[in-house]
Amino acid sequence: MGSAADFADARARAAALAGRTSFRIGGVPELLFEPSTVAEVAEVVVACKAARVPLRVLGGGCNLLVADGPLPGAVLATTRLRHERVLDDRVEVGAGGSFPGLVSRAAELSIPTLSGCPGIPGQVGGVVAMNAGGRFGYVADALLEVFAVDLDGRPFARVVEPGDLGYRTSVFLGAAVVVAASFRRDRSLDRDAERRRFLEASAWKRSTQPMSAASAGCVFKNPPGGRSAGAIIDAAGLKGERVGGAMVSPVHANYIVNDADATFADVEALIGRVRERVAATTGVHLELEVQVWR
Ligand SMILES: Cc1cc2nc3c(=O)[nH]c(=O)nc-3n(C[C@H](O)[C@H](O)[C@H](O)COP(=O)(O)OP(=O)(O)OC[C@H]3O[C@@H](n4cnc5c(N)ncnc54)[C@H](O)[C@@H]3O)c2cc1C
Repeated sequence: MGSAADFADARARAAALAGRTSFRIGGVPELLFEPSTVAEVAEVVVACKAARVPLRVLGGGCNLLVADGPLPGAVLATTRLRHERVLDDRVEVGAGGSFPGLVSRAAELSIPTLSGCPGIPGQVGGVVAMNAGGRFGYVADALLEVFAVDLDGRPFARVVEPGDLGYRTSVFLGAAVVVAASFRRDRSLDRDAERRRFLEASAWKRSTQPMSAASAGCVFKNPPGGRSAGAIIDAAGLKGERVGGAMVSPVHANYIVNDADATFADVEALIGRVRERVAATTGVHLELEVQVWR
């Protein structure tokens, strides 16, 4: 085995991303790196930049639609960046840590708001980059500081400021590799209220969204003006609409599910059909929330 940034190892390690995405779709990248430390992340970023190889960051793969064919460039998976430090005023977690695992312990750890994020799969780095959340809470609400490596391979820490995280986006998305994040602890937190919030949010999520199907969660962002993309797609009569193995979920119209060995092309064609039908019937142009890799 060579260094963390060894291209021959990374080529040998590369396997279909279908095994690493919640959609269960995705081809083989040219190179796959799995660094375990910040220094190794920096090494990979520098080596790819020097070789002019485009680099993509993979967390839990729960918000990704990846093309079936060979994927050009390198993928840096954050799975091995795992550590947790519980301090008086904060909890620091590596980017590869399980977000659902953190959410299920948020009340015990006295982290405010995160108990409102059950049923959001992914890793800590991915949920920070995407500012995941929903009607019961957002990652941004409890986030204190982010540790990352910039696209030149320089590690940095950034205390989160208003405006760093937006609706399904952040200043880190496409601009850095998040390697860890720290979340605020509030020792006066009402833990029972947080546990109730967790149960309420879990029940709501289970009753409104197809949680066990292969999907990438909501495909489209809600358009401005407080309207729900799911309600708009539903009103356009698209629930149950199908292309090949991909179907607009009959449970929640903003989910496309892979229920019969869907290909990337199936999902892409169905996304196109939904967009066209919604634009034709309502004039709304839906924007993708799901990140597409091709
Ligand atoms: C059943 C289901 C339910 C869902 N419900 C919700 C919900 O309620 N609310 C919600 O917001 N989302 C939801 N999602 C979507 C998904 O859980 C979130 O988008 C989550 O943030 C994805 O995290 P990930 O680690 O899987 O990121 P990935 O899918 O691996 O990556 C997503 C994007 O983030 C980038 N990225 C990943 N890790 C890093 C990193 N360390 N540094 C920099 N960039 C990075 C990737 O390059 C990519 O552009 C749901 C998904 C599913 C399958």
